[in-house]
Amino acid sequence: MSRKPIIAGNWKMNNTKSEAKALVEGILEGIKPLDKSKMPDVILAPTYTALWQVQDLIKDEPSIALGAQNVNPNKKGAYTGEISIDMLNDFSVKYIIIGHSERRQLFHESDEFINEKARAIIASNLIPIICCGETLEQREAGITDVHLASQITKAYNGISKDDALKTVVAYEPIWAIGTGKTCDAQEANRTIGEIRKVLTKLYDEDAASKIRILYGGSVKPSTIVEQMAQEEIDGGLIGGASLEAQSFVELIKGAM
Ligand code: PEP
Repeated sequence: MSRKPIIAGNWKMNNTKSEAKALVEGILEGIKPLDKSKMPDVILAPTYTALWQVQDLIKDEPSIALGAQNVNPNKKGAYTGEISIDMLNDFSVKYIIIGHSERRQLFHESDEFINEKARAIIASNLIPIICCGETLEQREAGITDVHLASQITKAYNGISKDDALKTVVAYEPIWAIGTGKTCDAQEANRTIGEIRKVLTKLYDEDAASKIRILYGGSVKPSTIVEQMAQEEIDGGLIGGASLEAQSFVELIKGAM
């Protein structure tokens, strides 16, 4: 596999400043003995209030990049409670998670809004991590692939192949997020293969084979090795298991 793996920690609404500091220090300590040339791209996506501190703590560690959990696609203005790309740029954020199922479900974000975010992020030379995933009802109804094709097609609307190559996808079955139920590795591999077919249709095989696609949904140190052994899975977007330094370091090791 020529695609470089990614291990991304989505902290969600967790960690105060002091908790963030302790977590990052634990991760830095844990990766010290690792061969950096074999390490995956590691991304930490803290809450906005910890961005400054995490940026400072990782400044001498090139294998770790800063991520954000969301963004508003507008430049600036009357969007109370939102954050802009320029503001995230101030903290050297490189990756921005968009379309997470929690944003879609709890904050009613539409495919169109997610596409708007993707385009704005790319235009600012940052990298969107575009999440997609089906509910349990959709899986049981046998419409997972159709649903994912629709989400991906809408997310990439109006995005050129050159720009699509600057994106990352995260396949996150909603029923596996935060539930402890991991999607079977072979099934996650199959589903991600289907997402690549959609990207082939939208662009071509070259693009589909280069865009990194992560799996997310209760990834744990005990599941990562089998997941990373799958041809189509390029890494993990991790919630719960990214909140503890030792388990996050184990996940990094599992992707080496
Ligand atoms: C996530 O937040 O994207 C996620 C996959 O969470 P968890 O690993 O806790 O299921």
